[in-house]
Amino acid sequence: MKSIYGKLILGFLVSILFSFSIAGYFSLRKNSDELGRLAVEELESSSEHIADLLQIIEDGDLPKILSGYADTSEASFYIESNGQRTDYGTISGRQLSSEDYKKLNDHLGTVITLRDSSMRKYAKSFQINGQKYIIFVQKDIGKKEMVFVDSAMIAVFCMLVAGSITFLIIADIIVKPISRLNKATNELSKGNYRVRVNYTGNDEIARLNRSFNQMAQQLAKQEETRQQFISDVSHEFQTPLTAIQGFATILKNEELPLVQRQKYADIILFHSKRLSTLSKNMLQLTILDGEDVKLETSEFSLIEQLSRVIETQDNLALSKNIEIEFQLPKNDIRIEADESRLEQVWINLVNNAIKYTNENGVVTISVKKSSKEVEVTIEDTGVGMSKEAISHIFERFYRQDKSRSIEGNGLGLSIVKRIIDLHRGTIDVKSREDGGSKFIIRLPQERTFHITERLMKKDKDNSL
Ligand code: ADP
Repeated sequence: MKSIYGKLILGFLVSILFSFSIAGYFSLRKNSDELGRLAVEELESSSEHIADLLQIIEDGDLPKILSGYADTSEASFYIESNGQRTDYGTISGRQLSSEDYKKLNDHLGTVITLRDSSMRKYAKSFQINGQKYIIFVQKDIGKKEMVFVDSAMIAVFCMLVAGSITFLIIADIIVKPISRLNKATNELSKGNYRVRVNYTGNDEIARLNRSFNQMAQQLAKQEETRQQFISDVSHEFQTPLTAIQGFATILKNEELPLVQRQKYADIILFHSKRLSTLSKNMLQLTILDGEDVKLETSEFSLIEQLSRVIETQDNLALSKNIEIEFQLPKNDIRIEADESRLEQVWINLVNNAIKYTNENGVVTISVKKSSKEVEVTIEDTGVGMSKEAISHIFERFYRQDKSRSIEGNGLGLSIVKRIIDLHRGTIDVKSREDGGSKFIIRLPQERTFHITERLMKKDKDNSL
């Protein structure tokens, strides 16, 4: 039974037959007990009636009247007196034992009941007109039991037919959407990410369909990102490679003057460095994207770290006569974070601020601490960004400057964002075209320690 349809039908039939067998068994037993009880009551009143007849009817008329009674009452009986037994109707099956006879003879009014498959038997001793009688009456309730069994069978049959038709309709309603989903899944596995399934309602299957659609949408998006990524990567690699190839070919000319030779060698060096930075950045992003990426946190001075970063960027700033203004807070601020990764964040942001600021501009760095977080702001008076650019700057390989006149590969801010995310921080950008840019990074306070608080604590500990 391979299909879910077949399994559902088999399950239905098994459950119906199983439940009806149990229900049938118990109701048959109950019915049989009830019929038996009623039969014994009838047999009791029959025996009383026979006793009355024995008392009031003359001996001569008695056999005829008792035979007539046996015919009409559907009961067979015998009367025994002084060891003489007269049967009316057929008496068969289980009979009274000698012990039963003894009990009946010893105590008048003793009642003995017997059960013999569908037969119910009743015997009682009487004293009639000064003589001892044993009246034994029996009745077959098999026919009545069969009437019940027949009606139960008809009910089962009707329920089975009606239930099967209803179930087939329901199974069809359940199975059809699953088959549709199965077809769509096959399509998806073949790479058709546009496939979608229609659904209505809010039941489990509708929810499954909705999840399928979401998954297909997500896969389509991922596929688009993947293709975009491949095209971006090959483009980013292609430009420096073309330059390297071109200038290397020119360098093969032995008559090239030394000055030009050096110039072209420098260009090759520049592009190979660009390639190296690109592959390093890509590797770094792959590591940061990994599921098991871990931050190696330690406690360090944020102010010292920022001062170090500014020092490394000083030469670049000087070459463009850009002033870097570091607004030092009154107290040192210590934080617990991944020191080397956070350093990468500041390098990328300060480097961008200098790169995208024209000569004689200013880059301002400030740090603020509140009860909830530490806030680092890197502001420049540079070229700024359009609203459109702001919404894309954290995407891989995005660059506002399509002419690529400024060195870069569009991965720096993606790395920054990922590192800040890993620290559960936030990064906000405020910028206007030709109006400078401001990057605000907030790191949650539970990882930060104000040096004065720590010193105070140390002093307190020492004094104890
Ligand atoms: P890139 O290597 O191109 O600088 P980033 O990921 O660091 O790559 O930045 C992405 C883009 O965001 C840049 O190409 C630039 O257009 C824009 N950008 C980043 N920082 C600044 C800034 N301080 N001023 C203006 N534009 C910026």
